[in-house]
Amino acid sequence: MSDRHPAADMNGHLAIIAVATFLGGLSAALLYGFINIAIGELIIHKYIFHGHWKFCKEEVIPDVDSRNPLVILHNRTIQGLHYIFRPFYVQHWLAHHKHVTKDNQHVAEHGDASPRMQKETLERYPLNTAALLNSSHGMGANIYGLVYQYLLLGFTPLPWFGLLAYYDQPLCLLVYFLPSLMLPLSTVYHKYLHMSNVSRQKKTPWYFRWLLSDPGEDVVRKHFMHHHVNNDRNWNFILFADAVTDVFGMNVDPDEKTMRHMEKLGLQVAVKS
Ligand SMILES: [Zn+2]
Ligand SMILES: [Zn+2]
Ligand SMILES: [Zn+2]
Repeated sequence: MSDRHPAADMNGHLAIIAVATFLGGLSAALLYGFINIAIGELIIHKYIFHGHWKFCKEEVIPDVDSRNPLVILHNRTIQGLHYIFRPFYVQHWLAHHKHVTKDNQHVAEHGDASPRMQKETLERYPLNTAALLNSSHGMGANIYGLVYQYLLLGFTPLPWFGLLAYYDQPLCLLVYFLPSLMLPLSTVYHKYLHMSNVSRQKKTPWYFRWLLSDPGEDVVRKHFMHHHVNNDRNWNFILFADAVTDVFGMNVDPDEKTMRHMEKLGLQVAVKS
């Protein structure tokens, strides 16, 4: 929770950018890489996973009845994008968000929806069986799910910015792409964000124990708000990424009411000493 004045946050951001730009080279590449993955995660989650690009919500995009080549081209383009994006909309919005709302206790204890709930969703969306299975029903991903999700970054500025800025500096380019690995990583640790405090303490493996820190618990609270309070805020699961998207007014901090709501559901995080 941040009780600092927004202007102070803003000055902090500007100071970091100023320092990195001054240092130049690799540290700037790392910073630009981080800014871009924070924005990339926001774009993917909001526009694709939540279907704010509305055609994601359609089950099928029918062929247009037209001879105008531009109209046909537009139709085929939307069909192509729909083919790529729709599975992510199904696994995240139609499966994951519904599971968390309807099956909260099971999710809080085990980090996934109950088998009955998973089966119900699979039967409801037979066109997206592979997507549901590759994404652990929207909660995580196997290697295919991780690779497909990573490729969605092609629809964000991330790779294009990197290639334009660093096409002639391979080491900088490599460093620029490092923060983007936080996207698959955050998909793998997503389920721990959903667990009750007790389950999270018990089940988080040693290589994710850093999630039990203050910044980790901030993500837990904000992700809770994303699911239970306001679906159109708090898009980032990557630690510290909200510092970037705050600039676009995309985040809300948890308030007293939210904390009580979490407590009622048995999801309270450790009390800070
Ligand atoms: Zn979501
Ligand atoms: Zn939405
Ligand atoms: Zn979630």
